[in-house]
Amino acid sequence: MPAYTDDLVGAFLTPPAMLPQLVPSRICLQCDVCCRFPDPDSALRPYFTENEILRALATGAEEAAFPDRGGSQVILVPDSHGEGYLCPMFDAGTSTCRIYEHRPLDCQLYPLALMWDEPHDQILLGWDTKCPFMREEVPGEIQRHADRVMTLFDQPGTHDQVVANPRLIGQFQEDVIVLARLPRLTDALAGRWGSAPLHRFTVDDIPRMTAALDRRGWHGDQPLAAYSPAYHYMWNGLLSYWWMELQGAFCLFAQSPDGWFMPLPPIGAGPIDAPLCEAMGLLRRWNGDSPVSRVENVSIRSVPEFERLGYRVTPKEPDYLYRAADLAALSGDRYKSQRALCNRCEREQSIEMRAYEVRDRQDCRALLGDWSRQKRAEGLESFGAMLLEDATPAHEVIWSQASALRVAGRVVRIDGRLCAYTFGYWLTSTTFCVLLEVTDRTLPGLGQYLFREICRMAVAQGAEYINTMDDAGLPGLRASKQAYHPAMLIPNFVASLVRES
Ligand code: SF4
Repeated sequence: MPAYTDDLVGAFLTPPAMLPQLVPSRICLQCDVCCRFPDPDSALRPYFTENEILRALATGAEEAAFPDRGGSQVILVPDSHGEGYLCPMFDAGTSTCRIYEHRPLDCQLYPLALMWDEPHDQILLGWDTKCPFMREEVPGEIQRHADRVMTLFDQPGTHDQVVANPRLIGQFQEDVIVLARLPRLTDALAGRWGSAPLHRFTVDDIPRMTAALDRRGWHGDQPLAAYSPAYHYMWNGLLSYWWMELQGAFCLFAQSPDGWFMPLPPIGAGPIDAPLCEAMGLLRRWNGDSPVSRVENVSIRSVPEFERLGYRVTPKEPDYLYRAADLAALSGDRYKSQRALCNRCEREQSIEMRAYEVRDRQDCRALLGDWSRQKRAEGLESFGAMLLEDATPAHEVIWSQASALRVAGRVVRIDGRLCAYTFGYWLTSTTFCVLLEVTDRTLPGLGQYLFREICRMAVAQGAEYINTMDDAGLPGLRASKQAYHPAMLIPNFVASLVRES
């Protein structure tokens, strides 16, 4: 870990003026609203700018809390004494913030909040009625406090910080009482990020994206697994996802530590020329000429269109697609080894399988920890190890939001202990996609058994095909996917603009 010395903090990271505090700390210490969250992907988890991250690291915060050192919401940690999640800077024993003197602007502001109005036209300053103190305080005093805070938004340091970090502005919340409109900040945001509203991709946007995908239709094609909200949303802790409506198309954007890209082409019923041109214009504005500006998960049907528009299209790992009936039956010589392992598992273990429920979350967490240790002990390819590091926050999102994401889960218990889980979603009415599978690797055949059972469940519900996504370029994963005899590999491409020399 790099040394974040006092000198470094002092020389480069002098915090901007602290915002005045309205709520007395004796009230905060008795309250259990702040710093605690019901879900790992909570839109309200605190956002740290680049300098705030450096200050937090210098005062003892863990690097793992910040997926993007250029600015990110923290990765929440499970509350070991309850059901929900905590800010990793929160000390549950004393109900205090470990970095209080260096806490970010986002936290200093609370219980005031910056948010968009409902049509996403104007930035508002409001007060959050979830704070119990604000419900009792005299409105005149709150307004005077808000006025003091607003003068700080006019100071260049704070103003520029907000404009450079649009995630400091939350979505409209009905329980936040509006105190003021902030037109100067609204105009500055539009000047920096574009005039079309840029929305954070939250769980409430899942139906909107699903409807856009349904309108687009598949016309007999087999879509890539990426054409589903759950596929992207689960990574919301590590990447930051945004969406815009451009020329009638739903455009999804992802912000990574390297810059912005489109994880999918624009999703609309009509031609993609106009929305794509506008979206790429925005990417260039946000990234400069960085090659990170690209469109991922381009289907083979769209390749000619991208090439006609001047894009360079390169292949990446394809998705594996199987006939569902083959995987449910595992009959014939070609599935002999998988069938033998399933039989062994059934013979040796007394298996109980049922639908996943949120109360299984704690046991799933323990299994994921065991599974990661087992994988590491087996010796992982370096990219595989990196994927494993990233997996935990993504699994947390699935455990917490399975139902909102329309993801179905199954858990296996053996002698009462949770030994395996799997999640998947319906990509089309006849294709089921297996998203996650985690099993105790010390139990022979359990992985094969679980995979066959989820395929049987899908067949019973009408599946003709099973998509198991790509192999991430990992030879071990490729071999095990090939061993199930895919009916086809669905080609997948990345499109980037050809740069003029
Ligand atoms: S940084 Fe501190 S004040 Fe902000 S949410 Fe975390 S624990 Fe609470």
